[in-house]
Amino acid sequence: MLNANLPKSDDETQVTLHGLTVSCQPRKSFDRPGLVWFVIASAFYVGGLANVVSGDDAFGKNDSVRNITLEQLAAGDVQLVDLTHGLNDKSPFWPGADYQPFELRTIATIEKNGVFSKAFAMPEHFGTHLDAPCHFEQGQPSLDEIKSTDLFASGVVIDVSMAAEADPDYRLSVADVANWEQANGPIPMRAIVLLKTGWSRFWDSNVRYRNQDLQGKMHFPGFSVEAARWLVKERQVRGVGIDTLSIDHGPSKDFIVHHVVNGAGRYGLENVAHLDKLPARNFFLIVAPIKITTGTGGPTRLFAVLPGNK
Ligand SMILES: [Zn+2]
Repeated sequence: MLNANLPKSDDETQVTLHGLTVSCQPRKSFDRPGLVWFVIASAFYVGGLANVVSGDDAFGKNDSVRNITLEQLAAGDVQLVDLTHGLNDKSPFWPGADYQPFELRTIATIEKNGVFSKAFAMPEHFGTHLDAPCHFEQGQPSLDEIKSTDLFASGVVIDVSMAAEADPDYRLSVADVANWEQANGPIPMRAIVLLKTGWSRFWDSNVRYRNQDLQGKMHFPGFSVEAARWLVKERQVRGVGIDTLSIDHGPSKDFIVHHVVNGAGRYGLENVAHLDKLPARNFFLIVAPIKITTGTGGPTRLFAVLPGNK
């Protein structure tokens, strides 16, 4: 047990990791990313990534990613994959009545003001983003209430891109998950399960990415409710992610997968990029959503850490 003894205040954060308690008080010069990294660094101090996620089964026995240290990360002795789409006015977005394209405007220039500065506006659920548990279920945590420890987890990728190529409305089945486990071993407990559908190849076109028919109904792949229930119950996933606009497939009207995931207090990750750069397992995810007080979701920087040189 390690306790970082910092002055107590209303802002104090106490994080309990596997065999490790860290208390942190953000100072004025100690911004949020700094705090997050302090927590990770403290965890790494007493071991590898295995200390960041709790539970002996949070990694597979043979997942070498568990032994990566912050020293290796800082030295560039690991692979880092940025799973985040860049945000701009061409980014695809949900076709809701009050949803808007990304806006960015210059509010100061070096020539005029001596400083270069911009302002941006976007819906919470835009680009690579996190759906907080309160998005579809009352009484569940908002974006700022998600426990920090739930934002660090092992990851797996289930690839259904072949099936989605044949059927754009394809949904991940429980049988697909069973087949994946047969080939790759059990999904670690409390991991994040990412569904690779191949849909990110359409990211450059809002029309193609939404894939709406003449009635306006969208067509893209997603999770089935049965698979979502199984992952939540049997593998206690911290969250599920996908490379499309929604963890429910395009034609969904009831958003039942959102209800199952959010109803269990778990989060979704949508519009995830570069899943083709990840193996089926043996990587670690750092999920860093913007911290909007009472937010229902928000743009998220998402990184995967993998063993081996880039
Ligand atoms: Zn969303």
